[in-house]
Amino acid sequence: MSVQQTLVLIKPDGIAKSLTGNILTELSDTGLILVGAKIVQVTRELAEEHYQHLSEEKFFDELIRYIMGEFHVKRVLALIYHGENAIAKVRDVVGATNPEQAHPSTIRGKFGRITTKGVFENVVHASESEKEAEREIKLWFRPGELIQTIYPVESRQVAKTEIFWKQEKK
Ligand code: GDP
Ligand code: MG
Repeated sequence: MSVQQTLVLIKPDGIAKSLTGNILTELSDTGLILVGAKIVQVTRELAEEHYQHLSEEKFFDELIRYIMGEFHVKRVLALIYHGENAIAKVRDVVGATNPEQAHPSTIRGKFGRITTKGVFENVVHASESEKEAEREIKLWFRPGELIQTIYPVESRQVAKTEIFWKQEKK
């Protein structure tokens, strides 16, 4: 057992079906700590990078369209959970990849489905290993978006224009 972090995504079907609250409750019951959270519109670039290891699969194109929200709504909720044995704890409450095979007490077993076109709408993503969790967290989040530093960071000088809330004229 070791202290780990894991990336969870509430996928577009989970958002569209208003399952966010139910899913957060299940995840909270693991006792893990939420250290990052944001709503994201998934670009094709991000989707393809996230699922790069599945690019040879015949369902890849539909998977990319699914995570980009083309079948539901164009947003996902990205979460980072931290704590003892976080990866297995989250995978346990999430359930098997195939929602028809996922145990009925798990998130995917309760809320997932396979569409008539064969898309696995399984409501959530959860990292599979420490290596994958690190790759995924670094892909989805910048260090400053987490409430604690979980991987080494460095500072770099960059010149950039930032967007601020417009100030009211007094
Ligand atoms: P996960 O780690 O349990 O999410 O499973 P994988 O990493 O193997 O696959 C990533 C995602 O691809 C899954 O969550 C599903 O949305 C989708 N997927 C995996 N296997 C299949 C499959 O056999 N058919 C279809 N249509 N989608 C799949
Ligand atoms: Mg996976």
